[in-house]
Amino acid sequence: MTRAPGQMPLLFVLGHPLTHSLSPAMHNAALRHVGLPWTYLPLDIEKSQVGPVIQWMKGSKVTGANVTVPYKEEVMPFLDKVEPNAKWLGSVNTIHWKGGKLCGTSTDGEGFLRSLGPWRKKLKGSTGLLIGAGGAARAVAGALAQCGVKNLRIANRSLDRAGALLKKLKKGHSAMDAALLSLAEAERSMGRFDWVVQATSIGLKPNERSPLSLRGARQSTWVIDLIYHRETAFLKEARQRGLPRLGGLGMLLHQGALSFNLWTGRKAPLGVMEKALRGQLSKRRV
Ligand code: NDP
Repeated sequence: MTRAPGQMPLLFVLGHPLTHSLSPAMHNAALRHVGLPWTYLPLDIEKSQVGPVIQWMKGSKVTGANVTVPYKEEVMPFLDKVEPNAKWLGSVNTIHWKGGKLCGTSTDGEGFLRSLGPWRKKLKGSTGLLIGAGGAARAVAGALAQCGVKNLRIANRSLDRAGALLKKLKKGHSAMDAALLSLAEAERSMGRFDWVVQATSIGLKPNERSPLSLRGARQSTWVIDLIYHRETAFLKEARQRGLPRLGGLGMLLHQGALSFNLWTGRKAPLGVMEKALRGQLSKRRV
């Protein structure tokens, strides 16, 4: 909601390290565009400072914050309230005031779904593959389950971590048929998937290989890579095979837009925010 009287017109992203965060550029451009004289700053802190920073937010009525790795779980015990979606995920990416309480929520899952555009409607009753079982994969899996996905297969390097995600999904979303596959099994089963989401960090560094081959995918299979820094080997293969595809920039944009809306009560200027993100990314590629 719009800043209450007495609130400090300050927003920040809390994490470590933050040298590569695109959020300050995206949110400052949006704040300028809607004419709010607020500032969004990076706050790169050590783990021991997480509690004191949240206490300071409460005492000074700082308007809000984003939280990124490695503190998405760390902040939870210090907040007045954690929304059920963030509790389920074990991850807070947005802090905002609600009814006088400092609340934590996560906009990652809904941000992912919004980034799909018209594909979102096709999720109901679909069969898909999620590669990865880390924080981003968890947010995506929860969002997919809420959209009525019928069959979800999860493939990850470490089967233990994938098993923990599967257990979580089975507890909260028993209607979905979810199971684990090894990366090799997922590759062999490629022809049965309506969509494939790549949610590992493979491709974050230039020239990293793809986690698996899309050989065997149907021409109608849509492919998403959550990495937004470049065209990964995975997305490149999708392009070469002529598959419908998306990178991760849309998810980054929409999770940010949802946070912006919670802090300001205003509709986020998506075009301005996307332009700021693309501007930052192109500077980094120089
Ligand atoms: P985590 O560290 O929580 O998880 C990393 C995942 O990548 C795990 O599944 C891990 O497997 C897998 N992985 C890492 N290295 C390898 C490797 N060499 N071989 C096989 N698997 C590997 O990271 P997050 O889940 O937070 O983030 C994952 C990616 O998603 C990041 O690249 C990030 O940029 C992107 N992301 C994009 C967002 C967006 O808005 N577009 C939002 C959040 C994240 P294992 O369990 O076996 O270690």
